[in-house]
Formats: sequence, C-alpha cells, structure tokens
Amino acid sequence: MMLKTGVLFKYKDFLPVTPQTPLFTLGEGDTPLIRCDRLAREIGCGELHLKFEGCNPTGSFKDRGMVVAVAKALEAGSNALICASTGNTSASAAAYAAYCGLTAIIIVPEGKIALGKMAQAIIYGAKIITITGNFDQALEIVRTLVEKHPVTLVNSLNPHRIEGQKTAAFEIIEILGDAPDYLFIPVGNAGNITAYWQGFVESCQSGRSKQKPVIMGFQAEGAAPIVRGHPVAKPETVATAIRIGNPASWQQAEAARDESGGIIDLVSDAEILAAQKLMATRTGVFSEPASAASIAGLIKLSRQGMDFSRKRIACVITGTGLKDTDTALKDAPPFLELPADIKAVEKALGWG
Ligand SMILES: *Cc1c(COP(=O)(O)O)cnc(C)c1O
Repeated sequence: MMLKTGVLFKYKDFLPVTPQTPLFTLGEGDTPLIRCDRLAREIGCGELHLKFEGCNPTGSFKDRGMVVAVAKALEAGSNALICASTGNTSASAAAYAAYCGLTAIIIVPEGKIALGKMAQAIIYGAKIITITGNFDQALEIVRTLVEKHPVTLVNSLNPHRIEGQKTAAFEIIEILGDAPDYLFIPVGNAGNITAYWQGFVESCQSGRSKQKPVIMGFQAEGAAPIVRGHPVAKPETVATAIRIGNPASWQQAEAARDESGGIIDLVSDAEILAAQKLMATRTGVFSEPASAASIAGLIKLSRQGMDFSRKRIACVITGTGLKDTDTALKDAPPFLELPADIKAVEKALGWG
C-alpha cells in the first residue's frame, strides 16, 4: 500500500529526502486551517484563519520537523536523539524515537514544563534529565554533548527540523490558494518563524503562490530578547513554550521580519491569557498559552489602530491546551455544587 499522508510522503519532493531516507509517519501535518468569522469581526480583521497545530500527533507543530529530523538520523545510522526542551520538543522527540526504536535523551528546566508534556516524555520512555537552570542553559549543555558523543541533536538547530516545519506554510497556501496577507506567530527559539518564512519564500519562487505574507512575530514580555535587542538572562512568562532568553535562530527570525516587512513585538502574560480565553470561547480552539501569543499580538496591534479590515490573516496556533490544564484552571471560578435534584438544577439555571 502506498501511503499518502504525513509530512515525509506528501512533501518528499520539497524535503531533503533521498532514496535511502526511511519514510514513516505518526500522522503529522495536514492540520486544520480554521476560518473564524466571529472572532475576526470582534478583532476587526477581514478574514481570520487559525492554523491549529495542536492537532499533530503529540499536540504541537514540533512533529512536522521531528519526523524529518528522525528520518535523517536513521538514514545516518544514529541510535540516539538528544534535545533541550521547554516541553513540546521533548514530547515529539520521545514519540518519534519510540516509533523508530531509538533512545531519546531530553534535558529540561526543572519545574517549568507543563505537566502534560512531562507525562508524554515519561510514557514514551525517554531518558529525562531535569536541570536547575533554564532552557538556554539546557541547550548549551546539549550543544556541547553532541560534539563529544554519538547522539543526534533534534533541537531546531538541526536544519531538518526547519525543513519539516516549513510544510505548514505549504498547507496554508494549498487551502487559501495563496499566502495570507499577514502571518502572526509566537516566537521562542525562533525556529518556527524561520521555517514558515522559508516555506512561503519557496512557494513563491516555484510559482505555487503569488504573494508572501508580512510576518508578525510575538515574544512574551518577560522573554523578549529579539524585541529588546539583547539576550534575557532570566526569562519569565506563563507561556513556558516561549520562555527563552537567547533564541538559537535569532538572526533568521530578524531576516524573516525584515524581508517580509514585518515586526517582532511583545505581549504581556495578561494579554496572552486573555487571548487564550477569547480564542477558546469564540472559536472552540483550546491552545496552550504560548500559542495564544499570535492572537494576543493581533489584538494588540488592532487596538493600537493598525487596520486589518480588508486583510486576510493567518495565526499559527502552535500547540494544544490540553497539556497545560493547570494554567487554564487556575483562575476558574468554583463549580456550582447542588444536590442530585432536578428542581435544584432548574432553579440554578433560572428555569424554576
Ligand atoms: C516550540 C513552541 C513555540 C516556539 O517555537 P520556536 O520555533 O521555538 O520559536 C511556540 N509554541 C509552542 C506550543 C511550542 O511548542
């Protein structure tokens, strides 16, 4: 049977796939592009689409890049993968390693990983090391380890990750018929903004799209090194997936911004959480906090007076909210508790 689904099969002509590259899939890619007219009206933009990457097999866009990175690692004869992670890279690496019979070693900052992501790494059987430090320090350790030991780095410094992740841009173009006017995207280690820009540029060059979007990247206020112009030693934000003070793809992110005529700006934790809630209640999409930085950025600029009323906008919703229910539940009001009595329930609903 010839498989047609998955990033490696569907896009092999656009990826570094050779006759020796093993082709496999956990079902990554082909995520929904959700048109949200109600939220578009509320924010004041012409057309709004959410690229919901939470629908990938491990719940984030990292799977698109991981499948390519792991296929290339297998092709090169590697037995083990290693990454530093704020949670989603490690979940993805652990899953693909499990599928392929490889060892996954993950190095994560202690106490700063959403519980659902840790649960994934544990259940997939990864070797987990937590460090009393942040992501940037974990990545530094990993970069040194791969120079000394026979293990494949699968952070987005691995160019195959970027290659795989660019396929999300291809999918947006396939659905819309062209690139959107604007792409809003959260920025952490800055691999994804780099990948989308590469995908849009390649599509334009090969004639599959006529235009390229303006790229609008958003960092969290307490972890906004690119906006501030210098590394942040102690990044802090509720959006743990973008809690990064010294992004590996810093220059590429600035290139995407400048070549597209876009910006990289910041949003506060309060703006992120408000956007997460607004998106959930208006579209039925439950994202993790980091993902909502894209919507928060769109709302911020719209309030500042930028006119999107005739624009077609795509927001990248990078991961599912189900991994980080603690944050969603934190300020929830207590549930109404009633006896198991229909009259009491009717009364509470205002029907009796
Ligand atoms: C990894 C991640 C990001 C940040 O992506 P970068 O490529 O590091 O900029 C944002 N949101 C989620 C959910 C992620 O997992």
